[in-house]
Amino acid sequence: MSRRDLILSELGLTPLWVRPELLAEPEAVAEPEIAARIAPVADDAPPPPVRREAPVIVVPHTQPERAPSAPAPTAAPVRPAAPPPRGNGGPSVHATIAPLAEADSSRARDIAAMDWATLQQAVTGCTACGLCKTRTHAVFGVGNPQAELLVVGEAPGAEEDRQGEPFVGAAGKLLDNMLAAIGEKRGERVFIANVLKCRPPGNRNPQPEEVLQCAPLLARQIELIRPRLIFAIGRFAIQTLLQTDAPVGALRGKLHQVNDIPVVVGYHPAYLLRNLPDKARAWRDLLLVQQRLQALTAASRD
Ligand code: SF4
Repeated sequence: MSRRDLILSELGLTPLWVRPELLAEPEAVAEPEIAARIAPVADDAPPPPVRREAPVIVVPHTQPERAPSAPAPTAAPVRPAAPPPRGNGGPSVHATIAPLAEADSSRARDIAAMDWATLQQAVTGCTACGLCKTRTHAVFGVGNPQAELLVVGEAPGAEEDRQGEPFVGAAGKLLDNMLAAIGEKRGERVFIANVLKCRPPGNRNPQPEEVLQCAPLLARQIELIRPRLIFAIGRFAIQTLLQTDAPVGALRGKLHQVNDIPVVVGYHPAYLLRNLPDKARAWRDLLLVQQRLQALTAASRD
């Protein structure tokens, strides 16, 4: 089976749904060519309703330098004591800096000082918002705590709540296939987390107060992982991270930034399961992730 057919199969596509020019071999496509393909995308997906007021994501301005690191072999979310330094990658073509919020509560200050293991314990036992009363498990995230790529989704669903792991079930399988299409794998160079760590009952939209309380936990995860790139998937995660109410279609195909960390946005796999034609756009988002990740990794070696 050719690479093209393999990718189509992994994404659940048939050739009828995707124009061949969108399926070029990723490694064979020059950077300017990829940028030209991605930048002018017009999204005809129905824009989602405007979300609640912007929550607070606290990410420090400066990141310690780390040398290029090999993929860690373990998926166990255990934080090594002293991660190696990492470079801050190449320039952004389009930057939106999420505003910093003051760590103005003692809880936020405590979280901002936690190491990985302490943070994990804090999430597991968190009672900072009402979602603690209805959850089965708080879902911390899964993967390499020194990941190159951080995938951020919205919140646990029913199955994630049961299993205590993000992105399981059909949407999780599709996410795994999407990552595989660009040579990545859950637990290797990837960490997967959600904005909210506990499931909103009935999968309702997260409430602003819930996001406000949970945001410091994600912010600390980002700070400790220090990924080269964040892939924000789904409207809620994208708008929360980028502090915007702009529709996903207007944000796709560009490189954003949460402070000094580049951010690429894309569709949530659960959305793609309901909107199969948009998988072609999802593939372009993945190409952008792959291309930027490769560029950032190469830049860190210079
Ligand atoms: S959703 Fe976040 S803030 Fe609310 S209880 Fe769970 S971990 Fe704590």
